Amino acid sequence: MLILLLSVCSPAFALEFTSAEEEYIKNNPEVRLCVDPDWVPFERINEDGKHEGIAADLLALISSRTGITFTLVPTKDWDESLALSKSGGCDALSFLNSTPQREEWLIFTEPHFTDSNVFVTREEHSFIADPADLPDETIVFPKGTAMEELIRRDYPNLKIILTDSEIGAFNMVSDRKADMTMRSLIMAAYTIKKQGLFNLKISGRLPGYKNYLRMGVVKEKSMLRGILNKGIATITNAEREEIINRHVSINVQTPANYRLLMQIFAVAAVLLIIFIRWNMKLRELNKRLEKASQTDVLTGLYNRTMIDSRYYGEFERSRRYVRPFSVIMFDVDHFKEVNDKFGHLEGDKVLVKIAAALKETVRNSDIAGRWGGEEFLILCPETAADDAVILAERIRAAVRSLGNRDPQQVTVSLGIAQSEESDTPDTLLLRADKALYQAKNSGRDRVCRI
Ligand code: GH3
Ligand code: MG
Ligand code: MG
Repeated sequence: MLILLLSVCSPAFALEFTSAEEEYIKNNPEVRLCVDPDWVPFERINEDGKHEGIAADLLALISSRTGITFTLVPTKDWDESLALSKSGGCDALSFLNSTPQREEWLIFTEPHFTDSNVFVTREEHSFIADPADLPDETIVFPKGTAMEELIRRDYPNLKIILTDSEIGAFNMVSDRKADMTMRSLIMAAYTIKKQGLFNLKISGRLPGYKNYLRMGVVKEKSMLRGILNKGIATITNAEREEIINRHVSINVQTPANYRLLMQIFAVAAVLLIIFIRWNMKLRELNKRLEKASQTDVLTGLYNRTMIDSRYYGEFERSRRYVRPFSVIMFDVDHFKEVNDKFGHLEGDKVLVKIAAALKETVRNSDIAGRWGGEEFLILCPETAADDAVILAERIRAAVRSLGNRDPQQVTVSLGIAQSEESDTPDTLLLRADKALYQAKNSGRDRVCRI
């Protein structure tokens, strides 16, 4: 009898093989292995054609402790692996449940991996001690799982919904389309992390609901199964946990950490939103304040301060670039009578109407403001007196079209001056004022230019 002393991961293992087993290993050191090429995180065949995942690491331990070498026979999917093991294309399968159907051509080792099936719910769900206590809750499964059969049998109070895929089941819980699902713990931890479904948590497990994953060996190689079982027996729980963590990093703290992270994030987001809204409000208030400081309250036109400031600016600009610049000054005719006859409030309404008509009539490039009382000033950049007259006539007509405060027809008189080389800002305004008085003196309701 040969005693193999192994110290792969301390503590050391003493592996005892019978001489027949020792002979077998000597003559058959290589086992052709079929795997599931796409079952992450349990196993897969990677881009370099190598077997990797939880099963691969477990098999590496078994190999190092038994002296058996596993040679991967690549396949395109799990069905092909099963078929190949059946037809003699490979000697063993790495990681599967035993089922009566598979027992037709396979014998199974002891489990090298057990995986709990767990309830997965959204964060707010309470811990599930007994699913029988949950009336009216829905549970979603991918189609055709053993767990669906068990739950249907044991907990008829739960309403079962079916979906097409593993990820679909998790998404339905996350999206509130189902209250829970029941999946393998490893798969649950892996999918929640990979898909970023951090509103999900593991809310409980049931003692009898476990997956026992084993190696499958073709029937005629029972000696190989015995050897593999001896290797499997050496794998400790600590080693299994280490392997799982390497591939899934299921850490009991993980959901709590994410919760804390989410809470910090939520608080930070709320503070940020408050800050942004406060800033927007402040900006909005500043804008309103600025507008209020520039606007005449009654008419909504520029007030005296603003029209003054725009006037000096436009005057300067016309000087610097030697561009035409005209101003129109107008005054409401016999406005005192309007006030006297109809009252000050009615007078105000007339001023508001005139301002509205003015806004409608002037061009975008013109700048209109209330000069004071019932007098208005319009700045016309890039405009010679001839064109200003046309605009002034339009204003006069627009005011007339406002109709009358029976029997009083509201009219305006307008004076125009175009900036000349000899003008200062003051003289230009004075000339416009003079033109306005000419209009008044020559009968009102007319346009005069100087
Ligand atoms: P004229 O054709 O010569 O301009 O005659 P007028 O009556 O318009 O001239 P006057 O300057 O004598 O009267 C102006 C009137 O405008 C006096 C004043 O009470 C009135 N007024 C000035 N500002 C306002 C205002 O904001 N609202 C009202 N309702 N009336 C105003
Ligand atoms: Mg007047
Ligand atoms: Mg006046």
